[in-house]
Amino acid sequence: MTKREYGHFIDGQWREPHQVIERHAPGTGELVALVGAGTGAEVDDAVRAARREFDRGPWPRATGFERAAVLNRVAGLIDAHAGDLARLDAEEGGKPIRLAQGDIATAATLTRYAAGLAAQMHGLTYTNNGPDFTGLVLREPAGVAGLITPWNFPALILCQKLPFALAAGCTVVVKPSELTSGSTLRIAGLYAEAGLPAGVLNVVTGDGRAGAALAAHHGVDVLSFTGSTATGRKVIDAAKGNLKRLSLELGGKAANIVFADADLDDAAEGVIFGAYFNNGECCVSQARLLVEESIADEFLAVLTARAARLRVGQPLHPTTDVGPMIHSRHLATVLDHVARGRAQGARVAVGGARGTGGDLDGGWFVQPTILDSVTPRMDVFREEIFGPVLTVSRFRDADEAVELANDVEYGLANSVWSKNVDTALTVSKQLRSGTVYVNTTIDAPPTMPFGGYKSSGVGREMGQAGFEEFTELKSVSIRTGKRSGSFPFGGETL
Ligand code: NAD
Repeated sequence: MTKREYGHFIDGQWREPHQVIERHAPGTGELVALVGAGTGAEVDDAVRAARREFDRGPWPRATGFERAAVLNRVAGLIDAHAGDLARLDAEEGGKPIRLAQGDIATAATLTRYAAGLAAQMHGLTYTNNGPDFTGLVLREPAGVAGLITPWNFPALILCQKLPFALAAGCTVVVKPSELTSGSTLRIAGLYAEAGLPAGVLNVVTGDGRAGAALAAHHGVDVLSFTGSTATGRKVIDAAKGNLKRLSLELGGKAANIVFADADLDDAAEGVIFGAYFNNGECCVSQARLLVEESIADEFLAVLTARAARLRVGQPLHPTTDVGPMIHSRHLATVLDHVARGRAQGARVAVGGARGTGGDLDGGWFVQPTILDSVTPRMDVFREEIFGPVLTVSRFRDADEAVELANDVEYGLANSVWSKNVDTALTVSKQLRSGTVYVNTTIDAPPTMPFGGYKSSGVGREMGQAGFEEFTELKSVSIRTGKRSGSFPFGGETL
């Protein structure tokens, strides 16, 4: 692996950092990157450049077609550099390379979709406000957008935000995760290559201190944050100084609800994929299996055998299914969850320990794990584990399944497996989550809004709704001709 050194990208220039953060590859522990530790001063410079471009620059004043042309060029460049981008996310984040390649393909699709939204951005006209009145509802860019992203889908989550903000005519400051900044900086370079004016897109790397400075900055009008619920709460506090608009995509604790009348082969594949996709380090990870009692033992036997066959390995290896945890502290946290689950009465059906042996020894691996006999009182049922750990609980009927699924603080996504349309739709409507997958899982096209109920967040990403997060509405009420009578003020005409 080659060690990379990154600077900040501010006002169209690469800037040397004063201090750096070391990034070690999760698969091997090798030093792979030195990332700039941004401070309030760099955030200030970046916001000043974005502010100048928003207030006086060409980007917010360009036509939707002009903005779409740049975004479409960027999508082509992402495709052209897909191999490098995928490798950055796999090396720095530990995700299996096949998944990283999928992320980059979707990043390009999201950018093209956002280009279409730029081209058709429009407001409304009301012609029913009386004969002398015309009401215009203008849709305008919201201003300077701050974007803060996590480490688990570095390029993908960036592209759930950035092209949408730019499509709306916003100017942007991005603060990627200090653990996985490479692909964000590379994509910023692609925007410059595609002709985005200097200062419209700025990237300041660094840890939570740089994120906090961006969240608190009065020059930022709208902040889109993806990360943990705990950090989301801090962001709400920091953002209140200038009451900036917030979109928060936070944690989750999704359930896969499997009814006896499901296609059980299909459901088993879906449950395995949902639980172990992206090493289980996924906000919509289907970390809880709720299974109908009558088929539970048989279904669990199939899952246990399937989980044991998953290939745990180095992220760059083409056949790896499950890679390492993001860092050693997180490895310890995941194993601690398993230990607490056991102590509280869960039974380990498979896995339950650190992944070791061969080339796993230098990295931070966890064996794909299934904890059976999990009840709602246990911490593993309620807390986001964010690793390859699936909990199993049984239900008697649909009412109990819904009650169990909703009995957590989160509400990001759930899956329902049933071939009975009554069951599938009735349960979908009762689930308190922003997304429900029916007979599929972790399957979100860019057209569909994505976001959380309850402690999983505020606002939506992707789809028309995701675009609108980066816009403001302005009502313009126009009177034509001479008003008959007066304004109703004292009964006299001025
Ligand atoms: P995190 O909250 O630790 O960090 C997220 C980002 O916030 C990073 O860039 C970090 O540097 C920055 N940050 C840290 N402290 C900050 C502060 N005080 N103010 C502003 N920014 C700050 O989250 P993480 O560990 O990077 O990501 C994992 C979490 O993200 C999980 O909880 C996961 O569920 C959630 N997530 C949610 C979604 C979603 O769409 N809902 C998607 C992916 C991840």
